[in-house]
Amino acid sequence: MAEENVIIGTGWNFDNSYARLPESFFTKMTPPPVSLPKLIILNEPLAISLGLNVQALQSKDGAAELAGNQIPEGASPLAQAYAGHQFGHFNMLGDGRALLLGEQITPQGERVDIQLKGSGRTPYSRGGDGRAALGPMLREYIISEAMHALGIATTRSLAVVTTGELIIRETKQPGAILTRVAASHLRVGTFQYVSKWGSTEDLRDLADYTLQRHFPEIEADENRYLSLLKEVIKRQAVLISKWQLVGFIHGVMNTDNMALSGETIDYGPCAFLDAFVPATVFSSIDIHGRYAYGNQPHIAVWNLSRFAETLLPLLHDNEEEAVELAEDALSDFSELYHHHWIAGMRAKLGIFNEELEDESLIVSLLGLMQNSRADYTNTFRALTFDQPEDTDLFGSTEFVQWQELWQARLGRQQESKDASHQLMRNSNPALIPRNHRVEEALEAAVNQGDYSVMERLLDVLASPYAHSPEQAEYSTLPAQSSLPYRTFCGT
Ligand code: AMP
Ligand code: MG
Repeated sequence: MAEENVIIGTGWNFDNSYARLPESFFTKMTPPPVSLPKLIILNEPLAISLGLNVQALQSKDGAAELAGNQIPEGASPLAQAYAGHQFGHFNMLGDGRALLLGEQITPQGERVDIQLKGSGRTPYSRGGDGRAALGPMLREYIISEAMHALGIATTRSLAVVTTGELIIRETKQPGAILTRVAASHLRVGTFQYVSKWGSTEDLRDLADYTLQRHFPEIEADENRYLSLLKEVIKRQAVLISKWQLVGFIHGVMNTDNMALSGETIDYGPCAFLDAFVPATVFSSIDIHGRYAYGNQPHIAVWNLSRFAETLLPLLHDNEEEAVELAEDALSDFSELYHHHWIAGMRAKLGIFNEELEDESLIVSLLGLMQNSRADYTNTFRALTFDQPEDTDLFGSTEFVQWQELWQARLGRQQESKDASHQLMRNSNPALIPRNHRVEEALEAAVNQGDYSVMERLLDVLASPYAHSPEQAEYSTLPAQSSLPYRTFCGT
């Protein structure tokens, strides 16, 4: 057969285990078609790693699949039901503007969710239109891929297509659909939903499913549901420590936005810290600072406590004993978190071994940074390259004294200066997705139809630890503005 006659499929290889769970967990439905699907951006390396054919995805049929107009063979689209505490208030939620197409089995044998976000109304849409605007979908694409490159567990972004339709927000905006790839979309809120409205059998099914999907190594444990709770706590401790170490603010850590896989999920009003001020909040709706940078570890425990509550009937037949087991597991979070955070901070300062006073060395640096509102990323980068910045921090006597203590500390380890420098290079990113750079890329894309600004940004964000010359211009701070930076949910 001549090669040009071979019709190449997209490469979908679905096996839909979620669709085999009790029917109350979801609603099967096909997405409402959109008028004119057009591929805006495709994550080629990700597509290839998923076993997908880049050319096929770039074709008209590919855009139709990524818009939900054409259902790939083997897909079984469904909207997932879940609940959640939003800013502390419990609500029934569910996929109001997303559909799980199915689970792709990759050539490496991994199972990942393929979800269309912005795909239209579902039974869980409440008052919403089920749609998403191009700007926020590109924003999720940029930031999730930047997080991945930073080495932080996250959902990924495969593609963004525009729908050819305008959607109404404050202004009319182009509609778009993001294809999100996730280890799964199991959330704390999924358990909250089943715990509130399902039977104990449903809850056991969900817990067993979660174990099988994410924690097969503990399935045979004597109390596997307690092990599940402990593992979820561990993964969140790792995740949140990594957020803190790079200055990432999720912005809307509602319980429905906490994935049990330990991946960062739902990029809405998230943004990175510039000045090191722990009370920083960017989200326009976070009026009381519930999800401020410095509060994220506390909120994680709050959310994990809601998760633990749902598991109580499975932890022990005796409720009091179940509560005791849950409380005991939850009390480990702060130590686990602290362990990962301090290890990460030592690496950021080029420290290999452990000394008791390390914490006070770290805390005093952060205190000085806070007092002088030093830029978080650039301060560590300057320390890495021993290139003092022309800032209040680097000019202060306290800081000079701190540096002497730090240098003395480095002198008390066996590793060479060079090894320390390498460790710092690999632990302190050259750049993060600076808010003004992200806005600039989105402005060009959405208002000018010019995607080149975003492509260059994605390019430099893809290797944050390269410290290459072309990254330098991306680490400069925005011109002083009288208005604080604000982010929006983009719903
Ligand atoms: P999020 O803030 O993205 O985590 O969304 C919270 C809840 O609101 C979820 O149930 C979403 O599916 C739902 N939602 C967000 N935006 C829309 C929309 N435009 N239409 C319908 N539901 C939405
Ligand atoms: Mg959400």
